Amino acid sequence: MAKQPMLKFVSIPKEMPSKRDADQRREDFNEIYGEYVTEKARQQAGRCSQCGVPYCQSHCPLHNNIPDWLKLTAEGRLQEAYEVSQATNTFPEICGRICPQDRLCEGNCVIEQSGHGTVTIGAVEKYITDTAWEEGWVKPISPAEERPESVGIIGAGPGGLAAADRLRRAGLQVTVYDRYDRSGGLMIYGIPGFKLEKDVVMRRNAQLEEGGVTFVQNCNVGEDITFDELRGKHDFVLIATGVYKSRDLPAPGVGANGIVRAIDYLTASNRIGFGDSVPEFTSGELNAEGKRVVVIGGGDTAMDCVRTAIRQGATSVKCLYRRDRANMPGSQREVQNAEEEGVEFVWLSAPKGFTGGDAVESVMVQKMRLGAPDATGRQSPEVIEGADYVEDADLVIKALGFEPEDLPSLWNVPELEVTRWGTIKADFRTHETQIENVYAVGDIVRGASLVVWAIRDGREAADAILDKVMAAVPSATEVAAE
Ligand code: FAD
Ligand code: SF4
Ligand code: SF4
Repeated sequence: MAKQPMLKFVSIPKEMPSKRDADQRREDFNEIYGEYVTEKARQQAGRCSQCGVPYCQSHCPLHNNIPDWLKLTAEGRLQEAYEVSQATNTFPEICGRICPQDRLCEGNCVIEQSGHGTVTIGAVEKYITDTAWEEGWVKPISPAEERPESVGIIGAGPGGLAAADRLRRAGLQVTVYDRYDRSGGLMIYGIPGFKLEKDVVMRRNAQLEEGGVTFVQNCNVGEDITFDELRGKHDFVLIATGVYKSRDLPAPGVGANGIVRAIDYLTASNRIGFGDSVPEFTSGELNAEGKRVVVIGGGDTAMDCVRTAIRQGATSVKCLYRRDRANMPGSQREVQNAEEEGVEFVWLSAPKGFTGGDAVESVMVQKMRLGAPDATGRQSPEVIEGADYVEDADLVIKALGFEPEDLPSLWNVPELEVTRWGTIKADFRTHETQIENVYAVGDIVRGASLVVWAIRDGREAADAILDKVMAAVPSATEVAAE
């Protein structure tokens, strides 16, 4: 009888792929985790207890069939594992790298709950798909038939690309418009290479292009082409523009030089990684080299800024956050990585203002404590009077979150309904907006969220469009009756 490969969580401890030394990591923008060797991936997958009700799966936004692909991996049936994994996820190797697994699949793994350490789901998912690319199992997009219906997608982030992939596979004519010169959205210009190397995204872009998706880059909808023109060109339009309006700090001195927005800082750094010329980086405005850097915020964006500043050669990097470690929105795994790399976290601290003339010299910091819970049950930070102090800084990066741009005004489409937060209103199953045949997905609907949610939305909207297309196709009986 074949040896039972599963349920090994008692005898085999949790083990992540090897992580590069912090000293080495600080020197470059390459990913920090290595790949599992085959035997290790099999062993780690074999730790899964094959739950009858897999909470990992129900907490994965894509409801990935995790127990099945773990079992197939443990049995060495990697190509089948890949087939199962890619059936529900358009970009499994990307999610395996950057999903906050501790809040999603792995955070709900029962063996984690029983104190054995979670199954390393994300790392195995990445391993399976990276292997599939190496082995040539990732098939080109090759529709069985060409269809006449056309879809215009605004935004080449994960939401737009996931929809493009699904629609094109069904043979529709797909054009993706983006204001940037490269596709990938925040996966290219927001998230740094040490979490997601750019080649991983670029090979997906190439796969889509080779499969017949047309990309129109450097095209800002609302400026280079109107929304109405776009609607005239396509049967369906999908809005996947993300959220880019940075929240600001209403604090004295915030306009000084040396106080910059996280998105500008990260975009510049990512562009430098591509070898682009970025004058604001060359001038030092968006470069942390040799500077005392203070990053304000406690989310994923703040984590990416502090770790980028370390790699650019900052003399010190501090992260100010108004709540404590347990109450921060960013991933705990990322905080640990940042600490290993030399970032100092200053919890329960908020900026009150900035000193300096033209250029910032310091942040005036208020110390906070956590008070009574608010309506959401989250404890509100309160100022501790008389505990202010000054933190010297040459570069301050504001990472306070993002809000949607006012698309109905910018695009002159008042009938595009938005919520009171400015996000687009769309049916939560089909993702169709109040305007017929116009759909919306990703951050522009959810507010700043995650890549995996954008992928899910994109897939669902594509399916809803395909349902409509198929409903309009006359059946064989109807054709015969004509
Ligand atoms: P986006 O990725 O924002 O893509 C939108 C695209 O639309 C862009 O390419 C933009 O150029 C284009 N666009 C916008 N307006 C127009 C217009 N008018 N005309 C033409 N094109 C337009 N999520 C994770 O899951 N894990 C992480 O580790 C993670 N880290 C993050 C780090 C940072 C710094 C940031 C900012 C976000 C991070 N996120 C992370 C969130 C994640 O990147 C987003 O939730 C996700 O990219 C949203 O996808 P989207 O397709 O809705 O939009
Ligand atoms: Fe976990 Fe994300 Fe993969 Fe789902 S897509 S299994 S949440 S890593
Ligand atoms: Fe396996 Fe954990 Fe999912 Fe259970 S919850 S099926 S142990 S990965």
